[in-house]
Amino acid sequence: MSERKKTLTINEIYHSIQGESTWVGRPCVFVRLAFCNLRCNYCDTEYAFYEGKKRTLDEILEAVATFGCPLVEITGGEPLLQKNVLPLMTMLCDSRYTVLLETSGAHDVSKVDPRVYRIMDLKTPGSGEVGKNLWSNIDHLTLRDEVKFVMGTREDYEWACEKVRRYGLASRCHAVLYLWPDRSAPDCGMDSGGQTQCAVSTSDAQIHLEPSATWCLKDVRKSRTSFRGPGLTHGSAEAPPSIISQDR
Ligand code: SF4
Repeated sequence: MSERKKTLTINEIYHSIQGESTWVGRPCVFVRLAFCNLRCNYCDTEYAFYEGKKRTLDEILEAVATFGCPLVEITGGEPLLQKNVLPLMTMLCDSRYTVLLETSGAHDVSKVDPRVYRIMDLKTPGSGEVGKNLWSNIDHLTLRDEVKFVMGTREDYEWACEKVRRYGLASRCHAVLYLWPDRSAPDCGMDSGGQTQCAVSTSDAQIHLEPSATWCLKDVRKSRTSFRGPGLTHGSAEAPPSIISQDR
């Protein structure tokens, strides 16, 4: 069977503004794949667990093209559960899209096209799924990739910091992101709801953005943030805007 006739079960394809990661604020096409084998207790995409329609890779490429947007995120559910997502990402890269992959980190990321920017969500104890983390994935991360921790408690934060230190994530990846799901926000001293990116680290320093959790802020001494990187144009594969630390 030709690659283009292979199918994936797709929950939805839509155009919106990227709300997370260092790509936040960019127009983006989201390709949401159905199914997930995890059940994180803060999950906000449960509707993707079972609902989806089979579409050929050709049909998916056509649907993405209708938005005329150079940035595409493959998300879920858990996209890596369906093996045909690998050729889809390669085809998107070949078509000169900038491709992001949002994955739980519970599945092998080593076969993902190296042109893809991988955003790996390492599961904290508070998620209820910490046992599913595939730690060997860390070895495959590069300076293109980002790791995120969604936290519900102070213990999750301490746990995440320990993992950042132990695996050298701050120097191994482009960024380390700390996020709080909606329902834990009031306990975290945040002044707005929703998943809020509050810290990005590109070196040993952690840079905290407002609104931020109070305990996170206490860890910071002198720091300031700056953004770099031009806007995306169709077909570009530029690095995302970095938030870099200075004067620590
Ligand atoms: S991995 Fe993502 S989609 Fe799956 S249960 Fe957790 S938050 Fe939901």
